[in-house]
Amino acid sequence: MDFNKNFYEGMLENLNETQFSDFEQCNVISNEGLHDYIMEVIPASHIDECRCIDYEPNDRIFKEYPTALAYYNTLTNEIRVGDYSRFDSDEGFLDAIVHEVGHNEYNNDFSENSANVERWNELHNNSLESYYTSGIGCVSDYAATDAEEDFAETYSAYIRDPELLKFHNMEKYNFMRDVVFDGREYRETVYIGNDTFVTPPATLQAVMNYGANVSMEDFLEITRGGNIDDIKNTIRCFDKVAAT
Ligand SMILES: [Zn+2]
Repeated sequence: MDFNKNFYEGMLENLNETQFSDFEQCNVISNEGLHDYIMEVIPASHIDECRCIDYEPNDRIFKEYPTALAYYNTLTNEIRVGDYSRFDSDEGFLDAIVHEVGHNEYNNDFSENSANVERWNELHNNSLESYYTSGIGCVSDYAATDAEEDFAETYSAYIRDPELLKFHNMEKYNFMRDVVFDGREYRETVYIGNDTFVTPPATLQAVMNYGANVSMEDFLEITRGGNIDDIKNTIRCFDKVAAT
């Protein structure tokens, strides 16, 4: 095969040992853009062993599994991302990449501490019953698959949608914060109309889900534990949601 070096170099970006390639073809983010995003949000040690993050829609795995979005190879420490048309949104595209980075962290670092793995398995198992009965406890259906998928889904939500994770399971949130992220927390910015809100207390997600039908009692339950300014901020969000 004719190998055009200049062309190929233009398609690569490196973060320490991790190579980013071919994202220019995806219409969502460039190699450089993804590199910068990962560098900004992911603790460096979580990406250490990851060999590459490649946009590779023609990878045979995606042909064999038409619903697969992206995957992590636990033997080679490579992340491959499927065709962008498989994703609901640009946000979903990034959620999936961060999910795969979560597998890399689990595989190379987290799983070396058996006490932490046991504790995580316990948190996963404890959350299943409430998830199946009430839909609360796991951040997605996929997280309920098994403890490792739950880890990757929860990892992604911890970074990209922390309020959703807090709403579903505060114990998993605290575990991620204390054990996996060394205390680092993420704030999410939410835009509603012309207003910007930065992580209101409890869960904006819950308020959004309940919409205008939430009772004051439920609302107070949802916002328990927040400080007064945060609660005022949530009420402003709620008013906006209820008004539409
Ligand atoms: Zn996964």
